[in-house]
Amino acid sequence: MLNKNDIDIPLPDTAPDDLTEELAQSYTVVKKLLPFMVKRGIPASPKNYRLFYDYLLYSNPTLNKTINELLDHNAKFYSKLSMRLYDHFYNSEAFEMKAAAISKAAADFIDMSAELENGLSMAFTQTSHYQKILTDSSKQMTEVATPDELQPLLDELLSETETALAANDDLFSRISEANQIIASLKAELKNQTTLALVDELTKLYNRRHFHAEAPRLMNLAAKKALPLSAIMLDLDFFKRINDAWGHVHGDKVLVICAAAIRAAGEEDGMAVRMGGEEFLLMCPRLNLHQAALKAEEIRLAIQDADITAGGERLPVTVSAGVAQYVPGEDLKTFIDRADKALYQAKREGRNTVRMAVVANK
Ligand code: GH3
Ligand code: MG
Ligand code: MG
Repeated sequence: MLNKNDIDIPLPDTAPDDLTEELAQSYTVVKKLLPFMVKRGIPASPKNYRLFYDYLLYSNPTLNKTINELLDHNAKFYSKLSMRLYDHFYNSEAFEMKAAAISKAAADFIDMSAELENGLSMAFTQTSHYQKILTDSSKQMTEVATPDELQPLLDELLSETETALAANDDLFSRISEANQIIASLKAELKNQTTLALVDELTKLYNRRHFHAEAPRLMNLAAKKALPLSAIMLDLDFFKRINDAWGHVHGDKVLVICAAAIRAAGEEDGMAVRMGGEEFLLMCPRLNLHQAALKAEEIRLAIQDADITAGGERLPVTVSAGVAQYVPGEDLKTFIDRADKALYQAKREGRNTVRMAVVANK
């Protein structure tokens, strides 16, 4: 149990010499963490503690960028915001936990199959034994002279038949138990696989799926000499929408915009929520200009969407950057070009589409 003395030990300014590098690094971070949080009025909740621990450790540049922006905007890290940040940055951890649950279920299944195999082999032995009894008794029956001699033979047959039937019952119940486990494992696996690939709010693919799937689309485009383009989209002044109408309406806007992007992608476009209010539509078969037209179609759909809050129409617009894949370039280079075009669209007034230049070799 934790007692007061455990908590009040004053930490020396520098880490003791005998610590490993990892411990010394965590020591330095912990020393800074609470003063940092207290100074900025950040509640020392477990979630904030974890977020700011990683922030001070610089372990994830995107986390630092996000937190820096929030600190610049004097964001209050109360439970709602820290919960969102936590979900966003650590949901992959939740995924790992789900993966661990699935491997445990798979291990249980393997144990169960071993048991089933055991049951089958027992049943097989039992059946062979029963078959031998049947053959032997039918032979002996042809040799009996009186009905009295038949009685013990029939008794033995009856008892062996009962044993064989019991073994079959046991096998049958093992098989039906196995079937139930297999069916629930299949359903759980399907459920978890979908959850792991799809963003919960918008039901678009998430970044994880994007990173797994994009290289395949790039290889296919290169192999078939077909164009492939990416449209990067970011809602304009979305923070203002949240600030003015609240997060619930903010979420509603995200869902409607995501639906417009998915619809524009038609059947083979891959629509992804990259994070926050940033989306990506991967467009197989479209060259730069065709994809720019598609982006324009999305921009207009969102600008004209009838999104209301409390009877008032919300002014939602989106900016987009479009890049066409250059065979041979890596995913990061390709997407960075779309991203740069998006930021050009932001700089040049928002609610507009810009096309990327091909990277200089
Ligand atoms: P810009 O035009 O430059 O993109 O401005 P912006 O306000 O859209 O950009 P900024 O990055 O400053 O703000 C993005 C906001 O998106 C901040 C964050 O609160 C909000 N956001 C991120 N994820 C969600 C979410 O899941 N739901 C809601 N409602 N808001 C979110
Ligand atoms: Mg934005
Ligand atoms: Mg953004």
